[in-house]
Amino acid sequence: MLQQRRVLIALGGNAMTTPDGSARPEDQRRAVEAAMGDVAALVATGTEVVLTHGNGPQVGNLLVKNEMAAHVVPPVPLDWCGAQTQGTIGFTVASALEAALDARGITRFASAIVTRVRVDADDPAFTRPSKPIGRYVDADQAARFTGLGQNWEDFGPRGWRRVVPSPEPLEILDAPAVRALLAAGVVPIAAGGGGIPVVREPSGALRGVEAVLDKDRTAALLARSVYAGSMVIATDVPNAVLHYGTPDARPIGRISAAELARHAADGHFAGGSMGPKVEAALRFVAEGGGRAVITALDRLADGIAGTAGTVVEP
Ligand code: ADP
Ligand code: MG
Repeated sequence: MLQQRRVLIALGGNAMTTPDGSARPEDQRRAVEAAMGDVAALVATGTEVVLTHGNGPQVGNLLVKNEMAAHVVPPVPLDWCGAQTQGTIGFTVASALEAALDARGITRFASAIVTRVRVDADDPAFTRPSKPIGRYVDADQAARFTGLGQNWEDFGPRGWRRVVPSPEPLEILDAPAVRALLAAGVVPIAAGGGGIPVVREPSGALRGVEAVLDKDRTAALLARSVYAGSMVIATDVPNAVLHYGTPDARPIGRISAAELARHAADGHFAGGSMGPKVEAALRFVAEGGGRAVITALDRLADGIAGTAGTVVEP
């Protein structure tokens, strides 16, 4: 079933914003255009690409708008913010990729799918919100939002930040649409921001929930759902690193899943950043997905070939 020439590429926030994370539209457009130059080069070699992407800075900006305009227009829930960012990021990625392919003389469509991902209403994550989102505020403001029913946590000198549940992604509900696009030769962009979290009601209806999904975890699930022969998590560092940020720092190249799992258990990868990437790579490989690579965007082709980045194999 595995499609050896099919690659799932997960783009980190850095592929869509400037390093300061300000996420001005022109910065996002420029960053996406640069990223799509790298992706187009890969498509030009005959690789079948499926794209997914993060949305942290973009959702953060929407939350500020919600907050500031609450007395004028009704704030919208978090699942709506996720859907909105899939739309705007998806449309810029699709347009930039088509243009980059066109510049190489390749006529190919790209299309973004507003993607729902099923979670379990009884996931323990709902009882302990852990994922920080949006901007930092002072203690007084945090207390006001807590009074409105939100969860806010003290992050020390930078201030307080809202935390929301991050349940386990269980099923890419729109996977059949993603596979149909692939079959039609269209490059799909799917499950942006980890997907829109929904639960299935006893009636069978789907309902969006106030949570965010981890982009890297969902990427592994999406890669399996499209039978991708490999998965690349493209971020802002060329490798996962042992003893990161210390004088003993050592980048990891080719590594077996078993050895990487031992390093993860020893605490080498920070939660919320490199941790979920390593976890996603391990899951993908353990479930029979083939090769998983963690590297920087400009090393995509070498990463897929297994000659750059952290290359995780069975
Ligand atoms: P993305 O937006 O691509 O998901 P993240 O910021 O979530 O990126 O994760 C990448 C970051 O993880 C790197 O910029 C680095 O600062 C951090 N990081 C934490 N631990 C490690 C590690 N052991 N090796 C490499 N990078 C690490
Ligand atoms: Mg991240």
